[in-house]
Amino acid sequence: MNLIFLGPPGSGKGTMATAVEKALGIPQISTGDMLRRHMREGTPLGIAAKSYVDKGELVPDDIVIGMVKERLHQPDCRNGYILDGFPRTVAQAEALGAIADIDTVVNFELSDEIIMRRLADRRVCPHGHGTFSAAGLGSEEVCPQCGAVLVHRHDDKEDTVRNRLNVYHTQTEPLIAYYLKSGKFLSIAMEGTVEDNRRTLMQALENAAKE
Ligand code: AMP
Repeated sequence: MNLIFLGPPGSGKGTMATAVEKALGIPQISTGDMLRRHMREGTPLGIAAKSYVDKGELVPDDIVIGMVKERLHQPDCRNGYILDGFPRTVAQAEALGAIADIDTVVNFELSDEIIMRRLADRRVCPHGHGTFSAAGLGSEEVCPQCGAVLVHRHDDKEDTVRNRLNVYHTQTEPLIAYYLKSGKFLSIAMEGTVEDNRRTLMQALENAAKE
């Protein structure tokens, strides 16, 4: 099953992609995570991407498209994958359409107001063990899995989030109309708990697979 997870930053698509990866055994391909890894490792791609990511702007299409094409050729993608945060522009969707057959596009819906609150509270493990709510952690902001001090992503700070939401509304939201036409599109409201959202999503994917 080849899936696209679409939605504004902070809508929970990464958390849902991790859950679906576990449930269906297909890899989560997060372009944000891939870019951050390149930036950490100081690769030429990471160096080229950094100024965009830091400002909350989109990294140029050719860089991201090349990175995703290479990833989709890996053997673990043979039985399917979950694209988390890609495509984010119509040009990316067109490039993807030329190389992949997508089964379902899931659009995650959440208001800007809730997103602003969630991202102010979001902490991440620097070793990739997931995303946590600062409010749920108390004073010890450490990863429950590895003990590392959790970080508030630089681009989760208020001004950058505002810019990311702007970028989402102008450049990524048009993808809803783009994929609505395909008939493979479904929307999930993300106001509930992680567990409620996960259940709704799994049910919707099961129904979509039967069609
Ligand atoms: P994310 O972790 O998905 O919120 O992505 C973090 C940042 O990485 C974004 O704000 C962009 O700067 C960059 N990024 C991630 N995915 C893409 C994409 N598909 N196209 C362009 N830039 C991206």
